[in-house]
Amino acid sequence: MRRFFYPAICLGMLLLAGCAALPEAETEGRTVSEMLDGPLDTVSTVTLYDWRGGEEPIEAVFALLYDIDARMSAVSGESEIAGLSGQAGTPAAVSGDVFGLIEYAKTVGAETDGAFDITIRPIVSLWGIGTENARVPAQAELDAALLSVGYEGITLDKAASSVTLEKAGMQLDLGGIAKGYACDRAAEILRNANVGHGIIDLGGNVYVLGTKPDGALWQVGIKSPVVGENGYFGVAAARDRAVVTSGVYERFFERDGKRYHHIMDPRTGCPVDNGLLSVTIISASAAQADALSTACFVLGAERGLAYLSALEGAEGIFVSEDLSVQVTPGLRDSFRITDERFQLVD
Ligand code: ADP
Ligand code: MG
Repeated sequence: MRRFFYPAICLGMLLLAGCAALPEAETEGRTVSEMLDGPLDTVSTVTLYDWRGGEEPIEAVFALLYDIDARMSAVSGESEIAGLSGQAGTPAAVSGDVFGLIEYAKTVGAETDGAFDITIRPIVSLWGIGTENARVPAQAELDAALLSVGYEGITLDKAASSVTLEKAGMQLDLGGIAKGYACDRAAEILRNANVGHGIIDLGGNVYVLGTKPDGALWQVGIKSPVVGENGYFGVAAARDRAVVTSGVYERFFERDGKRYHHIMDPRTGCPVDNGLLSVTIISASAAQADALSTACFVLGAERGLAYLSALEGAEGIFVSEDLSVQVTPGLRDSFRITDERFQLVD
């Protein structure tokens, strides 16, 4: 198990305002996933501010993260999600939280006309992006894999807490939503322990708990989606909010001068190529923010903004290749651009 200890200043990149003035912070970063393809496959950090109640809440959060990662991995043997593979047509019982998350993911699939689709796993496996086996699949392979993709093929039985994958070869992948879900559960643990001010960062799925210790809003830096850059291009003010970004820069490989990233269009089986660099969603629910950041990336700026405008409480920031930035009306006052190369447009 690798453990990383970060000084509080590490978060300065992400949470810039008043860093120097912040009181004592307890930070812990760990890589939770030991498995290839576990959904929590990046460094997770939990930072408590102005906290003198000991290590217990942090330990409880990491225990939760290990549990979620193990049960929701797309590949690991003991995972409930991996266990559904190869069981086409046969109901399989899953735990209540896994059932609830699949049910919610299916709803987002229906609301987005299949842009968000957790049955994308056969396509994700073919491309292998983020693994040593990344490659561009042949069209015939994609066509064959696409036959097993389609959220409508997930049948749910709430009374039995069971899931049936109806089509042969169907497999689930919670990579677009599990980190957000884990973030919500982690925030709940901290809140129940009476932690008043904290930050959870699960590989770009950020949750800011409460306010800064001085009562001001957190200032969350939104990472520049330009590949190779580490700075932020804008700042969102928030409290008790998840701030989740999906982007082309997170995970990709290059072949013959072309870049292939990890957000797939379920209709084509190929990485989405619609002129967007990143989508950030801000919401009280991190599971929603995670699912919708992936979904809106697939939908594209126009349809994504229209989808968000019909939802209560989810705001979005869309960055295009020409570094133009579109935001939902609810962010006009709380989000500002700090890098002049980026331009807010209507
Ligand atoms: P990350 O997890 O890297 O922060 P996302 O939240 O955008 O990024 O999720 C991308 C992951 O979601 C992919 O690695 C894959 O596992 C899965 N995925 C890819 N395309 C889709 C899609 N159209 N719908 C649902 N999940 C997807
Ligand atoms: Mg996501």
